[in-house]
Amino acid sequence: MNEIKCIVAGPRGKMGSEALRMIEKDDQLVLTGCIDRKFDGKSVREIENLPNLDAPIYSDAEVCLQEVEADVLIDLTTPEFGYKHTKLALEHNVRPVVGTTGFTEEQLKEVKSLSEDKQLGTVIAPNFAIGAVLMMQFSKWAAKHFPDVEIIEKHHDRKLDAPSGTAVKTAQLIQEERESHKQGHENEKETIEGARGADYDGMRIHSLRLPGLVAHQEVVFGSLGETLTIKHDSHHRESFMSGVKLAVTEVISLDTLVYGLEHLLD
Ligand code: NAP
Repeated sequence: MNEIKCIVAGPRGKMGSEALRMIEKDDQLVLTGCIDRKFDGKSVREIENLPNLDAPIYSDAEVCLQEVEADVLIDLTTPEFGYKHTKLALEHNVRPVVGTTGFTEEQLKEVKSLSEDKQLGTVIAPNFAIGAVLMMQFSKWAAKHFPDVEIIEKHHDRKLDAPSGTAVKTAQLIQEERESHKQGHENEKETIEGARGADYDGMRIHSLRLPGLVAHQEVVFGSLGETLTIKHDSHHRESFMSGVKLAVTEVISLDTLVYGLEHLLD
């Protein structure tokens, strides 16, 4: 089992700090550096509440990628910086594993093309929880038989993007299975703007943001006299870490962009 050297971007964040704890316990992954807005020049072990890992912190992502030996960059930051870090990593021959959500279609296309030009794998996964990936696959399957569907996603109130990457990915998978059509009454009118949620190819996505939540989604299908609800809850950010580990080990042998953890399962 060859060791895999990792840089983590966003190490003080909720997901980034969980990734450091996962790496600390893992026999194969080694933390060689971190990209953080603060604490430039310090070691991870000097920062309160982070694991006892001796890896340098850089505030300049480019300098980090130039100076640190790494196979993989794990990005868990914000859409704006996640995209910049992903491109920089590929330019420095480091494979990105991106959990950061909120990339646009245009950005995904650009990352795919850069990945292929460099013949380096990239994994972008809107949701690393295996249960959430199954929820998305089950929803795709159900959409064959239940074309009317609405998605309700619920997250903590510090989340920047809406709808969630998981909700968008679920909608894309459902779109592949059903004929595009507008749902609800043809004359329906919102008396308060946004009441019916976001419109994705005629299906509605509703985003709830509340303290106390982590990451939850319900996909509700309706048909004559019956409804089917497919539901997933991440109660703790540990739920994402087996997916991060899988993506890090798989990205090493890829030479293009893989979008969605489902392509790495089985
Ligand atoms: P968070 O707690 O806000 O953490 C984000 C971290 O990124 C913060 O520590 C922030 O630093 C840091 N950051 C921002 N800009 C940076 C930069 N330029 N360089 C280095 N670090 C920077 O958010 P989170 O809940 O961990 O989520 C992080 C991302 O993962 C979000 O996009 C979220 O939607 C996504 N997510 C994905 C999954 C999945 O399974 N794929 C699951 C959960 C969340 P400051 O504290 O200084 O701002």
